[in-house]
Amino acid sequence: MHVGDDATDLQRYVIAGVLARSGDEMRVLLIEDDRMIGDSLIAALKREGMTVDWVRTGADGEDALANGGHGLILLDIGLPGRSGVDLLKDARRAGNSTPVLIITARDGVDDRIIGLDVGADDYIVKPFEMRELLARMRAVLRRHAGAAQSTLIAGEVTLDLESHEATYRGTTAVLPAREFALMHALAERPGAILPRSRIEERIYGWGEEVESNAIDFLIHSIRKKFDKDVVRNVRGAGWMIPRSAR
Ligand code: CA
Repeated sequence: MHVGDDATDLQRYVIAGVLARSGDEMRVLLIEDDRMIGDSLIAALKREGMTVDWVRTGADGEDALANGGHGLILLDIGLPGRSGVDLLKDARRAGNSTPVLIITARDGVDDRIIGLDVGADDYIVKPFEMRELLARMRAVLRRHAGAAQSTLIAGEVTLDLESHEATYRGTTAVLPAREFALMHALAERPGAILPRSRIEERIYGWGEEVESNAIDFLIHSIRKKFDKDVVRNVRGAGWMIPRSAR
């Protein structure tokens, strides 16, 4: 996708489709003056089904932030005009709580620290791998969703993210940490199959020894508390919480 030459234009790319990871269409605001980085970001985010608004100056960034309506903001620090740090400081002061991931130069340690201090949720250092950026975006969105709402509803399952209570068809139980983490991972994407490896990644730490049947034990224990239908197994693929009642 080619990007026009007018750096003052708000460039809007409306991409058909939905963000597969959350089931919602995600609108991202990209504030970045580097043409090459911008082009590759647009292409990658488009592949993820996201809609991206791209602005390339501090002044346009300020306008776009004031307009709002974005699920996530990717913010370069070194911008023509006002710096990303100043934009972020003003946006937070004005009550804008949209998650922000800052993009900084390798030697920009001070920028990163100041950026986090004025309200960035995370940062990524140039040059970066697109899949790392996407993973960081997902993590920021997850944290944000968790902070913004304490209840997660997936089909017939309701999770209270603070008390770790799960409710299914009228039965409520407080789940041990790993059972809750497993349900949380599945409930974030009702109807989507999560393979064993992905579930293990979510609920076990790096380098932690994971028994080959650990997930099966957790699932078994969860089903015993509710009903076998609370988590559905798709043979050879993984597990899911169905999107709605059958
Ligand atoms: Ca820059």
